[in-house]
Amino acid sequence: MSTQANHAQAAKVAIVTGASRGIGAAIAQRLAADGIAVVVNYAGREADALAVVESIQAAGGRAAAIRADVTVPAQVAAMFDTAITLFGGVDILVNNAGIMQPGLVSLVDTDDALFDRLVAINLKGTFNTLRAAAKRLRAGGRIVNFSSSMNGLSQPGYSVYAATKAAVETMTNIFAKELRGRNITVNAVAPGPTATELFLKDKTPEQVERIAKAAPMERLGEPADISEVVAFLVSNAASWIDGQTLRVNGGII
Ligand code: NAP
Repeated sequence: MSTQANHAQAAKVAIVTGASRGIGAAIAQRLAADGIAVVVNYAGREADALAVVESIQAAGGRAAAIRADVTVPAQVAAMFDTAITLFGGVDILVNNAGIMQPGLVSLVDTDDALFDRLVAINLKGTFNTLRAAAKRLRAGGRIVNFSSSMNGLSQPGYSVYAATKAAVETMTNIFAKELRGRNITVNAVAPGPTATELFLKDKTPEQVERIAKAAPMERLGEPADISEVVAFLVSNAASWIDGQTLRVNGGII
């Protein structure tokens, strides 16, 4: 990257939701390495979030941990306002926070509590941060939402999870159009199976091995496989990509 580009990135500020671990933590660290000041959002695991902040600061970057449950609009608004107070503005929102059902749960076995929780975090949580961002993101900003390649794979046991992600893809495309004139791009990434707690918990080693071999690359994704793509989408190089969903999955679908 040129010196000029480095200066341009140095002034940027990003909020990464769900950045205490997994893909979000890798994104926070990757964006910070590009000189972007990063809000490491988390819901419950404060120690993990603080460790991510410390790792960024140890590498010479700028970061702060802010607790906010993305399902609660007032907490989301307060997170944006704190970020503006700390860093002077917000340019980038990465809507990474998300949950999955435990193991495989068919639609008929999905109880009300699980349905409501998946929708509250994956869909309403994304809506809450988009709505807050619409009023606060600076011109030239970037939004990256999180879908899943499970939409395309359509495997039994993932109906509600995949439905929340399909809704996120639809909002991504429409929201990009609603931000016309602001010079803010809105895109989504749709990872395939990626080696994080979300994917690995509730699976046997045999299940993990079978899924890992399903993609032509014959391995699971790593958080860095996803964070590199997010870093590109929020960069100046991606200014002509808007309203799109990019599958990042080693070719599994
Ligand atoms: P993960 O390791 O389980 O991490 C989830 C993160 O989300 C944590 O930082 C967690 O915070 C945060 N979070 C959960 N509920 C929240 C809430 N209500 N408010 C704020 N933050 C909340 O998950 P991951 O695998 O990195 O997944 C990241 C994104 O990628 C998700 O949207 C997921 O659907 C998507 N994705 C993942 C895969 C995969 O195979 N891993 C595949 C496709 C798509 P705490 O630590 O504080 O609880």
